[in-house]
Amino acid sequence: MVAFSKDVFDTICRDKTCDSLVHPWTKGCFKAALMIYASSIVGSAKFYSLVYLAQILMRGKKMAKKEEWIKMGRFYVRSTLLGLLVSAVGLQLICLIRKLIGKFTYHSCVLIPYTLSGIFIYLEPPARRGLVINLFCNLLIEYFLRSLQRAGYLSITKSKQTLMFMVGSSLLFYLMRLEGDKEVKTPLFWFFSPEKVRKKSDESPNVCPHNGECKKHILKGASAYFGIGLGISLAKLILPQIRTPLKAISTIRGKHLTLALFFSSYIGIYRAIICYLCRKKGFDSAFYALPAGYVAGLSFLFNPNLGLSIASVTAALKLYATILYEKKILPSSIPLPEIMYCLCQGVLFSARVMDPDVCPRYVFNLMDSVSNKRSLHVTKSLYETLKVT
Ligand SMILES: [Zn+2]
Ligand SMILES: [Zn+2]
Repeated sequence: MVAFSKDVFDTICRDKTCDSLVHPWTKGCFKAALMIYASSIVGSAKFYSLVYLAQILMRGKKMAKKEEWIKMGRFYVRSTLLGLLVSAVGLQLICLIRKLIGKFTYHSCVLIPYTLSGIFIYLEPPARRGLVINLFCNLLIEYFLRSLQRAGYLSITKSKQTLMFMVGSSLLFYLMRLEGDKEVKTPLFWFFSPEKVRKKSDESPNVCPHNGECKKHILKGASAYFGIGLGISLAKLILPQIRTPLKAISTIRGKHLTLALFFSSYIGIYRAIICYLCRKKGFDSAFYALPAGYVAGLSFLFNPNLGLSIASVTAALKLYATILYEKKILPSSIPLPEIMYCLCQGVLFSARVMDPDVCPRYVFNLMDSVSNKRSLHVTKSLYETLKVT
C-alpha cells in the first residue's frame, strides 16, 4: 500500500533534483523532454488505435463511406496529438515549475502541471471533446466517492449503487426522449437509445413508439442486447487466449452471462413498461421513461459497477446542461466544460501518483499506455525516494 501525506512529500522531496524524482531515465531536463516526446508519440498512437478500432467496429455500416474513414483518420491524429502533448508538455511543466520556484511541492509536482496541460483538450473536435470531458468527470466522482469511503464518511454498498443507477437511468431515458426530434443531439455514450415519442397527430394505428407487435418489439430488443452482452464477455474471455479459443470457450461459466443478462433485462423491462403505459393510457409520452428507466435500472444487480452507476447520473446531467445552455441559464461564453476537464485531469493524474489506492484503474491504464510506461518509472523512483512500496 502506498501511503504518504502532503507533509511527508514536502519534507522529503522539497530539495530533490528533478532527474532523481520525475525523469529518472536521464539527467538533463531537455534530453528528458525529448525522450518523453518519443515515448508518448508511440504510446499515444498505440492507445488511440485501440480506442478507434473499437469505435469503427461499433459504427458498423456507417463506415461503408470513404469520407467516414477520412474523418476517423483525422480524429485519430488529433487524439494522438492530445495524448502526446498532455503527457510530454506536462513533464516539461514539472521541470519548469521546479526551476521557477526552486523546490518541489506536493501540488506543483503533478497536480498543477497536468491541470495546465489539460488545455490540449481543445485538440479534440467539440463532439468528441464532450464525451472525453464526461468520462473524466465520471472518474473524478468515482475517485471522490472512494476517498470518502476510505475516510469512513460513507459506504458504497451494492444497493446504493443500484439505486443511483435506477435514478440515473430514469432521468437519462426521460431526457433522451425529450431530445427526441432535435436535429443536433447532445453527444452521449450510452449503450441504448430509447425510441422517439410517438406523436398524437401520428396516423399510425399503434400507440406505442414502435411499429408491429409489442411482444415482438420487447423480445427483439432483449435478445439483441443479450447477444451483444454475450459477445463482449466472450471477446474478453477469448482475446487474451487467442491461440486456444476452444479451451477458452470450455471455461464459460454462469458468471460470463451476467453482462448479457444485464443488457437484455435492462432493455426488455424498459420496453415492456413503455408499451404497457402506452396501451393503458392510449397515447405515448416522454414521461413514461421515468418509471420505465427506474425499474429497468434494477437489472444493474446482474452486473454492479460503480463507474456505470456514476455514468448514468452524469449522462443525465449532461443532457440537462444542454437544456440550461439553450435557455441561456449557463453562459456559453465561459468554457466551463474545458475548465472542468483541466481540473479533473490534474486531480486524477495527481491521484494516480500520490493516492493510487483509491484512484480509478482507468487512470493507471491511460497514463501508463500513453506515456509508453514512462509513468511507471516516475512512480517507482518517487516511491523509492519516499521509501514506500
Ligand atoms: Zn527536469
Ligand atoms: Zn408496444
